[in-house]
Amino acid sequence: MTEARNSDRSAPDLRPGERVADLPAEGDAALRFIGRIRTPWRDRRDCPRQGRLDGLECRVELFAPWAEALEGIGDYTHLEILYWLDRSRRDLLRQNPKSDGRIFGTFALRSPQRPNPIGTAQVRLVRLEEAALIVRGLDCLDGTPLLDIKPDRCEFTPKAPPKAADR
Ligand code: SAM
Repeated sequence: MTEARNSDRSAPDLRPGERVADLPAEGDAALRFIGRIRTPWRDRRDCPRQGRLDGLECRVELFAPWAEALEGIGDYTHLEILYWLDRSRRDLLRQNPKSDGRIFGTFALRSPQRPNPIGTAQVRLVRLEEAALIVRGLDCLDGTPLLDIKPDRCEFTPKAPPKAADR
């Protein structure tokens, strides 16, 4: 652990009381961005802290060849969207999220600053377009990379019986 300087200029600077880890250069897994999210928010100060189902419409755009993988999604009114909070720092152990001196461990927060900056939101599907979904409920900056889309778990009824190991 170290009181490291902020070497990534796109990531937010350290606040009083925050601590960071020295991270290895290499990661453990590779992700594929499957699209990009278009939202009305270019600046963190305008972006909601958590999305709301009655929030502003956002456009979840799929890169080729993933549009085909949307087949059947129109059966769901609510979806779970996973996205990569690409303008986050990834080395914070302890955070001062409101700059008010109150310090929390990273895993005690839903802060975008985390080792794997995955954001998740439950959204309402407004309409389907070609290779895009229009949804309400997001809270990310314009251009945020898309990781995955799943039917909302409340609406998903497993078709197979549970495995013995699940009982
Ligand atoms: N709903 C998600 C969750 O709980 O996993 C994300 C919550 S996070 C608190 C949302 C905040 O992350 C926004 O208010 C904004 O300050 C920040 N943010 C949004 N998009 C980002 C991006 N692409 N990179 C870094 N920070 C982002």
